[in-house]
Amino acid sequence: FDFAAPANEPVLSYAPGTPERAALKKQLSAFKAEQVDIPMYIGGQEVRTGKTVDIRPPHEHKHKLGHFHAGDASHVTAAIEAALKAREEWANTPWEHRAAIFLKAAELMATKYRYHMNGTTMLAQSKNAYQAEIDSACEIIDFLRFNVHYLTEIYRQQPASSPGVHNRLEYRPLEGFVLAVTPFNFTAIAGNLPTSAAMCGNVVVWKPANTQVYSANMIMKILIEAGLPAGVINLVYADGPTIGDICFAHPDFAGIHFTGSTGVFQTMWKTIGNNIHKYKTYPRIVGETGGKDFVLAHKSANVDVVVTALARGAFEYQGQKCSAASRAYLPSNIADEVKTKLAAELKTMKQGTTEDFSNFVNAVIDERSFDKIAKYIDNAKNDPKAKIIAGGNYNKSEGYFIEPTVIETADPKYVTMCEEIFGPVLTIYTYDADKFEEALVTVDTTSEYALTGSILAQDRYAVELATRKLVNSAGNFYINDKPTGAVVGQQPFGGARASGTNDKAGSALNLYRWLSARTVKETL
Ligand code: GLU
Repeated sequence: FDFAAPANEPVLSYAPGTPERAALKKQLSAFKAEQVDIPMYIGGQEVRTGKTVDIRPPHEHKHKLGHFHAGDASHVTAAIEAALKAREEWANTPWEHRAAIFLKAAELMATKYRYHMNGTTMLAQSKNAYQAEIDSACEIIDFLRFNVHYLTEIYRQQPASSPGVHNRLEYRPLEGFVLAVTPFNFTAIAGNLPTSAAMCGNVVVWKPANTQVYSANMIMKILIEAGLPAGVINLVYADGPTIGDICFAHPDFAGIHFTGSTGVFQTMWKTIGNNIHKYKTYPRIVGETGGKDFVLAHKSANVDVVVTALARGAFEYQGQKCSAASRAYLPSNIADEVKTKLAAELKTMKQGTTEDFSNFVNAVIDERSFDKIAKYIDNAKNDPKAKIIAGGNYNKSEGYFIEPTVIETADPKYVTMCEEIFGPVLTIYTYDADKFEEALVTVDTTSEYALTGSILAQDRYAVELATRKLVNSAGNFYINDKPTGAVVGQQPFGGARASGTNDKAGSALNLYRWLSARTVKETL
């Protein structure tokens, strides 16, 4: 079985007048006209509990798209049992057959269900058409295809043999089940975490964020249509602590694939540590857990490149990317010009619903998030250490709208320079343009996170210096670009320090974590 490196899925344009735009609009209207009834999927069965939770667009929270059926402890237990029942058959299914299922799912997402994937993500996660296209079409498709390619390469790697001896490595799945806990902000991540483990022959219990169930359901339906056998991935909606209590106390718990907050990940890690004597095997713990991502401009930087990196890096998808630019360090020689141009640029970004394709900025995900972000903005309004230089308004009467907001501070350790806000808020600090080395130390020591970061400079020496001195400050480091938008197969994604275990999503590094090899030596 050979599977050469695939090409990235092309990004479709939804420009006015295109048939793609018309088709996507039609799908959005169809979704808005129906009331979807979303079950859990356990052991190939659709499970409806009658305990329903409403699904509403964050940009139009008075409208109901439908509901999903919430589960409890009994459903989590049933999901684990269904997974373990499917395990032996799935682990022994030839790789070529497993691969075909995920390639078929990718194909269905690229063709028959592209507008369904994007439509669910636009409506329930409030992503505009372009942000949806690069996530719930291209990135999830790329994850599936590239992971099949990388895994094919891994399976090929075999040890040496010698006269009279034949050695081989059998790349087995883990002994037990894997728990995938997925976030709202990327449909692609929600798809990747369960499927990458399952591809390796593992069985999975998948718990998505409540705010992403609408598109998770679409992914699950497509996997089933592509031929995924019953019980290989079980999709359950129960609250986090219930899932954790049951999964982490189970002797067959073999791994967690997580994207979410640092606090939750650390709590999980402690629980797993406390229960370590209960498990058959040491569980694999893989997590991506947030960021406080920097943009550092050097005095030689091109002003327009800085403005674009900040406007797009900080405010695309309302700043709700782990990779979003949220702290900027500007040199004193160009700071004023950057701030003026940035404020002007933000005025051109329209905000509103995702159904109106002219909106660049949409709503933040839910009321809890809105309130948290608004509080940071209010605090900045009342703090002499901070000044709001753009945006600062918010309104939740129709949808959870927060204006792209820029805070300026003279304190490099001001709270919004340090804490992850996960919203459309950027903080700017201006440093003495002749003290670049000092600025490098400030960037490195200000945040506990190390996910993404950018150096913007035309001076090659500044680029070299920043690349070397910030070696541990970002798992994804960008030179003269915004710090977001990693492409599968091109920029493997993940960070260290408080940002996670750095097992790069969409790469062989990640897939190795879901394999437990057996070495077989045969004397001939
Ligand atoms: N991979 C995304 C990017 O490069 C970010 C993923 C995340 O927010 O977790 O922008």
